This record gives sequence, C-alpha cells and structure tokens, in this order.
Amino acid sequence: MGRVRTVFEKSVDGRRGSSVPSSGFPKRDLDEMIPKKFIRSTPLNLPKLSEPEVVRHYTNLSRMNYSIDVGFYPLGSCTMKYNPKMNEIISRFEGFTFIHPYQPEESVQGALRIMYELQEKLKKITGMDHFTLQPSAGAHGEFTGMLIIKKYHEDRGDFKRKKVLIPDSAHGTNPASSAMCGFEVVELKSGKDGRVDLAELKSKLNDEVAALMLTNPNTLGLYEKEIEKIADLVHDAGALLYYDGANLNAILGRIKPGDMGFDVVHLNLHKTFSTPHGMGGPGAGPVGVKEKLRDFLPVPIVDFKNGRFYLNYDLPKSIGRVRSFHGNFIVMVKALAYVDFMGEEGLKKVAELSVLNANYMRKKISEFLKIPYNDFCMHEFVASGEELKKYGVKTIDLAKRLMDYGFHPPTIYFPLIVHEAIMIEPTETETKETLDNFIEALKKIVEEAKSDPNLLKNAPTKTPVGRLDEVRAVRKPKLRWRGDDK
Ligand SMILES: *Cc1c(COP(=O)(O)O)cnc(C)c1O
Repeated sequence: MGRVRTVFEKSVDGRRGSSVPSSGFPKRDLDEMIPKKFIRSTPLNLPKLSEPEVVRHYTNLSRMNYSIDVGFYPLGSCTMKYNPKMNEIISRFEGFTFIHPYQPEESVQGALRIMYELQEKLKKITGMDHFTLQPSAGAHGEFTGMLIIKKYHEDRGDFKRKKVLIPDSAHGTNPASSAMCGFEVVELKSGKDGRVDLAELKSKLNDEVAALMLTNPNTLGLYEKEIEKIADLVHDAGALLYYDGANLNAILGRIKPGDMGFDVVHLNLHKTFSTPHGMGGPGAGPVGVKEKLRDFLPVPIVDFKNGRFYLNYDLPKSIGRVRSFHGNFIVMVKALAYVDFMGEEGLKKVAELSVLNANYMRKKISEFLKIPYNDFCMHEFVASGEELKKYGVKTIDLAKRLMDYGFHPPTIYFPLIVHEAIMIEPTETETKETLDNFIEALKKIVEEAKSDPNLLKNAPTKTPVGRLDEVRAVRKPKLRWRGDDK
C-alpha cells in the first residue's frame, strides 16, 4: 500500500462538507462582537472536502489500527484482555461525563460513592487498609508509593534509608520511579530459578534500605514461593515491601498482596480491571497501603461520615497531591462496573483461566521454542528466540512476521534477563481456538526461520506500513507533517 494522502492533500478548493440553511436572522459584523485585533486577516487553513470523503478518510485510517477488538493481543506484562462493552456504555452515562470536580460535594454524591465503593472493593481484593485513587498510571502509582515510603522513614527520624532493592527482572518503571523519588537503586540478581535469591537479598539488606520493590508473580510469570520469608527479611531490616500490581490478573480473588506481607501496592486499573489501553492511556494506578502508612496518602481521600461521602483533606502528614483533581474518574467507573459484573466467583475465574491459558501455550510452544525458565507459570511466560540466531534471525524478525499472520506480536526484549525474550500473556478472555491459531502461526514462523529466513527479515509485508527504520526514527524524529516530507 502506498502512502495515504492527508486530508490537506485531498482538499479541493470550493468543496464543502455540509451546507446549513440560512437561519433568517440578519448577519452581524464580527467586529461588533470581537475586538478587531483578534479577528483573523487570513482564512483558516482547513481542508475542503465533501462529507463522504471525510468519513471514508477517517474510516480507512481507523481500519489500519490493530486492537483487542480486531484480534489476539498477547502483549506480555500489559494484560491486553478484552474489555466488556457494558463497562464502556456505563462509563458514558451523562451523570458521569457531565460533572465537574469543582461542583459542591452534595451535588456529586453518586460519583464520590463510586470512588468510595471502588476503594472498598480494592481493599478487599488486595488485603490493604486504605487506598488513594489519584495516580494516573502504574508508574505514577509507583512514584506515589515510593514517596509515601520515603516520608514514612523520614517521619520516624530515619534519614539514612536511601536505597531501594529491585530485582534485575523488574519492569523499567520500578528503578525509574525510585530514582525520581531520590532513592539509589540497588539491583538484585535473580536466582537460577528466575526468582528472588534469598542469599542475594540478605547480602543487600541493611539499615540503609528503604524498600524492596517486587511484582508477584514476577515478570517471568513465576510466583515467588518464598514471599513470606522475603517479607520477614525485609521487615526485620526495618524496610518496607512494595508491590508492583501489574500482574494482579494472575492471582485475582485467590490470594492477596496484603496477606503476602506487602505494605504498599499499586494496581493498574487499565490492565487488570479492564479499560482499553495503550499509546498513553488514559489509565489509573490506585495505591493501597497498610494502616501505618495511611497518614502519608495523597490528599484528598474519599471518606464516608454521617451518611455522606466527602473529600477528606485532613491528613497533616500527607505527601500532598500527585495530580490535579481526583484522578481519571471514568477509568474508576469502568473498574467498579467490571468488579461488580464479575462478582467474587468471576474474579477468581479470571485468575484461573489466565493461568490455564498461559500454561497451555507454554507447554505447546516449548515444543519448538526455548523457554529458559520452563516452570509452571502464572498468567504469562517468557520464551527465547536465541536458537534462531544461527539462521540469521532475531526475535524482532519473528515478531514482525507474526503481523503477517494477523496477530499483534508479544512483548519482546523484556524482561532483560532473558536473551531475545518473547513474553507471552494470553489473558483469560481468549478461546482455545485463538490460542491454537497463534501457536500454529508461531510454529510455522519458526520453520520459516530455518527454511527461508528472508520471509522474517522482510516482514511485515501485509500491513499498511512495512518495517520501519527504528534507529533512524529515534535519531531523526519527524514529529510534524509539513507537506514536503517524503
Ligand atoms: C505496565 C507495567 C508497569 C507500569 O504501568 P503503567 O500503567 O504502564 O505506567 C509497571 N510494572 C509492570 C510489571 C508492568 O507490566
């Protein structure tokens, strides 16, 4: 497919999208209403197109997109599950979309109730005592949680805890958020089994450590079986345990991070609790804490007293606001709708099926691709394209070729501890046929890699845009269309 012309290139002078009959009222001069200096002297450069041209232009553009509504999206770590349309419909109710955060509390009791109920449900799901819904994403939740941990230690007069321990398998946002809060990041080398190595942990724990950040199951999809021992070690050293809740899908309704010993957790509502996401949001990253950390939560928190919901600013030790107003409210509406529709049994099924699907795929895929930590996994697993290198093929080539078979590629080159990583998270919303079709495509591609590697290296060939020069795109980014670009 050639380059699609922009609406400006398609513009034809004199063409119009619509014509509205005259209202019959006399026309007033613009400068009667607007000071002259604000009136344009040149016409606005708008494309001139007919209505069907505009509709077709944007409809055709939208068809080039790939989304969960189009097909399978096994993007590891990102939990690209199908998002029930009922949540979308509910979130568009006028009572939700036509309110403003400056409205008096009495006039938005319903909205506050939704936030309060969501907090209550998240407490129950995670085993934490208090929640803030303010943060806008997982990374933002991490930043909020680490600020809370910092303030907790400082409030006790303990100023030497400047270090945060993070496994080498962690998501990049973990060290980034810690560093942004002024902590020094200390890397923990994973053990041979891909999990936390207790000896390594002990050797790095001391009175300068503020916290250990973990996700459980970790980014390899492996459950930290020694989590209670880990929690004891961390707490005995006077540090706190932070839970990156991006992988909550695997344990939903089954086990709680609060019971594992975590002091602070963030959740990614857009992942586990079903909001369409990708390309920057909108998301929500609520943070839950144990009782001893309540006073440090961002203000305001949503509370209930004497029969009414209200915004509680009375937390003198609060880290302050972490964003404007109260967070991405519509994402909260979808999350609550999701939790209520699923019910307790439904949420348990999410965990069961996401784990079952992942293990089914792991078993089948291990027959033709290497899986370095090939252990019973939770909701995702990581394969490696290392053995294809001898055919001159890299993981990125395999990922690009998957697009020719109509699939969104998995996450690649993460986590960093697996060479040529291929991280697959099927989620619970996919049928066995879909999983089988993907496995079959992947198997064919591995065969192609051996017999005709150029098929992979030239891929994708069936997508609207072919292989991009990613290095050049980074070095010489073109962020604006000027009309002269080729
Ligand atoms: C997605 C993810 C994050 C970051 O969450 P965002 O909502 O994208 O900011 C952190 N950790 C893990 C393991 C993740 O998968």
